[in-house]
Amino acid sequence: MLNSEDKKALQVKGEDCFILAECFFDRAFKRPDYLFNQRGKSAGTAHLQRNIIKFNATLFKQNRDEFLNQVVAHEVAHLIVFQQYGKVRPHGKEWQHVMHNVFNCPANTTHSLDISDVIGRQFSYQCLCTTHQLTIRRHNKVLKGAKYLCKGCRGVLKESSHAAEGTKAKL
Ligand SMILES: [Zn+2]
Ligand SMILES: [Zn+2]
Repeated sequence: MLNSEDKKALQVKGEDCFILAECFFDRAFKRPDYLFNQRGKSAGTAHLQRNIIKFNATLFKQNRDEFLNQVVAHEVAHLIVFQQYGKVRPHGKEWQHVMHNVFNCPANTTHSLDISDVIGRQFSYQCLCTTHQLTIRRHNKVLKGAKYLCKGCRGVLKESSHAAEGTKAKL
């Protein structure tokens, strides 16, 4: 759970983005409701029809700067694009335009947040060509005799002793 100061910081940043967009496009944009119950690997999600932005409280607490510099603008840009251009590709040229020219932000669609706390434990497996991360559910199946093949090299995945590396979080 986020305290009211954390929620305020995210909302203030969101409002900054809306004001930038209103200056740029010379029109008013409808403000969203901000929720803080995003689950899973996503840092945040924008719900266009409902005009809602959800933030992942767990990831925010561990990645404050990245949220305030990047994630808030990313999600607000989705809502701006929807109000300005209607239904277009989520990370298409309109969204990139808003990120670059209105918010002066890099238009990244993934980022390197540490998501180990929200995805649960992962297990490293090796084939002939690369390393795979298996969920605990799959890992338990392997322990019971299941075999997983790599789609690339068709090799059988074998548990490796290396620790799982961080995966990219979604935006
Ligand atoms: Zn392989
Ligand atoms: Zn996005």
